[in-house]
Amino acid sequence: MSKFYFRYGAMGSGKTIDLLKVAYNYKERGQKVVIFTAKIDNRYEVGKVTTRIGIQSDAITFDNDTNFYRYIKSLDKKPDCVLVDEAQFLSRKHVMQLSDVVDMLEIPVICYGLRSDFRLNFFEGAKALMEVADKIEEIKTICECGKKATVNMRLVNGIPTTSGAQILIGGNDSYKAVCRKCYKKLTHHVAGIY
Ligand SMILES: [Zn+2]
Repeated sequence: MSKFYFRYGAMGSGKTIDLLKVAYNYKERGQKVVIFTAKIDNRYEVGKVTTRIGIQSDAITFDNDTNFYRYIKSLDKKPDCVLVDEAQFLSRKHVMQLSDVVDMLEIPVICYGLRSDFRLNFFEGAKALMEVADKIEEIKTICECGKKATVNMRLVNGIPTTSGAQILIGGNDSYKAVCRKCYKKLTHHVAGIY
């Protein structure tokens, strides 16, 4: 039986490297994969999944109008696996379509993405995947202090911040994976009065 996977991890945890490794393994066996990535991700070329170490692959971009189920169903040669990068940007509707790819077309789907934003709120896609996926797996990475990094701290001009929209496109922001404790320290998080 095919399964629906959500592999989540903070920035820099190697999610895309894992995705490309899975794609490579399928192709090596002579099987077909379809790779999707979010149109919103303009860090690199549109229509490519790219890692920080430079390995990349062509990908189909998705946006709000994408119907994953219809797209896969319409293909003459069905893939043996569907891979989705930047899955935090999926809508709940997208996640249900991908679950239909698993259930109706019997094709495994593996989604890779962030769990929460720089304010520790769920991304819509991550929340829906946590609710719906069969297997939820964490790809771990380490904070500077040695603890597990779970938070994507936003930096604007190198300074940690907790303000701004959930998604910034083309801004001068960057992100750093840290543990929750370091996040509080570095963003001068004001704790409640106990
Ligand atoms: Zn830390």
